[in-house]
Amino acid sequence: MRHDIPSEPGAAAVPDATTGSSRPAGGAPRPVALPEDAAPGVDRGSTAEASVGGLGEGELLARIIAMLGAPQGVLVGPGDDAAVLSEAGPLVLSMDTLVEGHDFRTVRPNGFRTSGFDVGWKSAAQNLSDINAMGGTPTSLVVSLTLPPITPVAWVEDCARGLAAAIRELRAVGCSVVGGDLGRGSELVITAAVTGALHGLAPVLRSGARPGHVLAVAGTLGRAAAGLAILEDGRPVTEFGASAADLIAAQLRPRPPLTAGPAAAAGGASAMLDISDGLVRDAGRIAAASGVHLDLDPVVLGTYADPLREVALVLDLDPMEWILGGGEDHGLLATFPQDSLLPPGFTAVGSVRPGKPLVTLASQATALRGWDHFAH
Ligand SMILES: [Mg+2]
Repeated sequence: MRHDIPSEPGAAAVPDATTGSSRPAGGAPRPVALPEDAAPGVDRGSTAEASVGGLGEGELLARIIAMLGAPQGVLVGPGDDAAVLSEAGPLVLSMDTLVEGHDFRTVRPNGFRTSGFDVGWKSAAQNLSDINAMGGTPTSLVVSLTLPPITPVAWVEDCARGLAAAIRELRAVGCSVVGGDLGRGSELVITAAVTGALHGLAPVLRSGARPGHVLAVAGTLGRAAAGLAILEDGRPVTEFGASAADLIAAQLRPRPPLTAGPAAAAGGASAMLDISDGLVRDAGRIAAASGVHLDLDPVVLGTYADPLREVALVLDLDPMEWILGGGEDHGLLATFPQDSLLPPGFTAVGSVRPGKPLVTLASQATALRGWDHFAH
């Protein structure tokens, strides 16, 4: 069953759940709520606030719509059985799902609650990132929410705010939520599909890396993994130093570099993907698709690890594990022909060599493999 989200023109002001006030679209990012001032999350034991089970579907939809901006650039927006887009060229299409208990926890060991805002943001960000990884520009999102009846209405409203905020703050200009679906289920699931345009550029695939090409990254590495390690540890956030809040934000609200993908496509990238499961694992995907050996430079990667050393010390870990194995920053990994000028935002981190598909660190094998959705 499909319930398209009708439009509400002029819904540009975004209510802030922290203060209850409204702030204009494009305002300063809302800080991540640490346990001391945690925003309301899903509390299975609480009946103090209205749950979706006590609210009609139409009313819930109306509340969600109030959080989303007016759809942009569509021939038929929300309110009919399907949206109609006007795409002048090839359509890039992708989809991603977040499942409670697998992709996010509503309550962490240290008491931290994942807000609806965070889940909505992450859903949008990881979908926008997949369009970026092809060299495209996102144009629309459709979002399906599966909700246990006890889910607080406030959590769902916050989720819609997070979707809209990610689109706005990541500067996915021209992209909006154009439709969706609401359903009931035993666990929280958010699935989004995203479309994108290439604006005359060829899509950048995983299969074009050739020996002699330069391996480069855009965006951050390891920060989301460090944030997750803090959240999964039982100790108070305050024990992890001044950078802890930013690292937690990197985990909960990743910021994929959305201008870097089209810049890479325009700049002649020969292969690309977004780093969603870990640098080594995702590099292995380019190596396999292109039939090449990728060698990573530990000296350059060490500069990404340095800001994480304070937190790593508390956890008695080597921060290079986060650089090589952590993926949820949604940066880009790309290859460029030898001697090409790297587009803005890209840093060379290795080289493409002939040989069997393989990823090495300074020519040495690495045991770090990153995230496998079916092995955990
Ligand atoms: Mg991807």
